[in-house]
Amino acid sequence: MPENGFNAEGFFADGGGLTYSDFIILPGHIGFSANDVDLETNLTKNLKIKRPLVSSPMDTVTESKMAIYMALLGGIGIIHYNNSIEEQVKEVKSVKRFENGFIVDPVTLSPENTISDVDKIKEIYGFSGIPITEDGTLKSKLVGIVTRRDIDFEVNRTRKLKDVMVTQLVTAPAGITLAEGNKILKESKKGKLPLVDKEGCLVSLMSRMDLLKNEDFPCASKGKEKQLLVGAAISTREEDKERLKELVDAGVDIIVIDSSQGDSIYQHNLIKHIKKNYPHIEVIGGNIVTAKQCKSLIDAGVDALRIGMGSGSICITQDATAVGRAQGSAVYHCAKFAREYAKIPVIADGGIANIGHIVKALALGTSTVMLGAMLAGTSEAPGDYFYEGGVRLKKYRGMASLEAMEKGGGKRYYSEEEKIKIAQGVSGTVVDKGSVAHFGDYIIKSLIHAMQSLGYRTINELHEGLYNGTLSFEARSPSAQREGTVHDLHSYTSPDVALFYPPDRKIR
Ligand code: GDP
Ligand code: 5GP
Repeated sequence: MPENGFNAEGFFADGGGLTYSDFIILPGHIGFSANDVDLETNLTKNLKIKRPLVSSPMDTVTESKMAIYMALLGGIGIIHYNNSIEEQVKEVKSVKRFENGFIVDPVTLSPENTISDVDKIKEIYGFSGIPITEDGTLKSKLVGIVTRRDIDFEVNRTRKLKDVMVTQLVTAPAGITLAEGNKILKESKKGKLPLVDKEGCLVSLMSRMDLLKNEDFPCASKGKEKQLLVGAAISTREEDKERLKELVDAGVDIIVIDSSQGDSIYQHNLIKHIKKNYPHIEVIGGNIVTAKQCKSLIDAGVDALRIGMGSGSICITQDATAVGRAQGSAVYHCAKFAREYAKIPVIADGGIANIGHIVKALALGTSTVMLGAMLAGTSEAPGDYFYEGGVRLKKYRGMASLEAMEKGGGKRYYSEEEKIKIAQGVSGTVVDKGSVAHFGDYIIKSLIHAMQSLGYRTINELHEGLYNGTLSFEARSPSAQREGTVHDLHSYTSPDVALFYPPDRKIR
């Protein structure tokens, strides 16, 4: 037994299946402050995000609200597909609309429209600052602007916009840089800045709100247009090629191919189809748990791999089919192979039950973690809270639970059209965790402190330590596991309670 634990190679050498609770990581030397820790990581081969957090494409975890806050915090959300194409597309568009640099397709109205038309836009999209153009379309002559302040006290909602719009406008010429636009917005103290061409026709719009959002969430995950990044899941079924097309048209950045056993001819064909027809889209393949499966999907062209089979909190796959792998071993072996073979990052998906598990997954070589249960009780997860025995709860269910399959789910388990549906998940409940904006901050702060204790400034450095053998692991006996958590008290208050009352966080 070495004096200072095992390096990862030694630790995983005997071939037994290990998972997060089976080991602890030994501390390193702290030679820097927590402020020096940088959690930037590769989500896919070509896409970096500032925080290693991904929300799972499950119908009790990720719709637009969750995806918006995950991206604002520097992670990303993957919109589920247990819905119609229209519904999934709507969720993607809501994320893409949330924050912008230049709004290149602003919603416009004509002077003949009424205040109630603005009300409808407010209801659908959540904003009410509308540029008014001569014929109501983009690229027509800008004649005014209507904002909240022009209409909020107006009782008669049938009044025409030409009677209430502001016509003295601060505009800027199309073609200025984002920085120049931001400067004009700040100095003019206006809420909106329309950009016009030489003929005075509207080209795009800038919003002061975006400057504020940018200040509140400096680590937000954004693409070239300064819109939030968002992913969407699809199945390998032939009919989902239509879904895929609509999602791409809606501006989705990443497609997750959702299969419980990803190494299939169906997934290979779909990866090739996406890469051929939409080369700008990053494709995450999976789920897989062995190096052989990794090779297969990497050869087909994936940009990242999703690791996990039967480890999720709501999963019964391993009981139902005896196929899967202990998640720690799956993450270690797949991450190592994918890095050596093609520098492809992996996502550890399923079985993350606490923040320590996130640290352990990163220490085993994953670049990001995918969270289901941990995020399911937050206010941004779909579904309403309810009380049971005095505890505030939300529903959380597996996508292959009978309940989700009845709603059209379970496409990742190949049993959708079969007469006998084989459940590979259960429905349950999770406790209220407050807003993900707060909970996410708490997770990120904890990760920073963990990195400091391990003695690594970046996830890259941590992975170097993993592969050059300087990162040390030690097995935990059942009594070591008991010792490593709260024990021998008559009663105690869970620190999680503090999450419900975090320090003030500005959210506009
Ligand atoms: P408003 O004053 O009611 O228009 O809303 P805010 O200015 O407070 O917020 C508007 C937010 O919606 C900004 O973050 C915009 O980037 C975003 N947005 C996305 N598309 C549009 C659009 O077509 N028009 C407007 N006004 N905002 C948009
Ligand atoms: P959790 O974070 O709750 O431990 O695990 C979430 C992950 O479980 C998801 O990202 C997905 O990979 C997996 N999952 C979701 N629904 C089901 C299901 O019904 N059955 C199985 N086997 N896995 C599921």
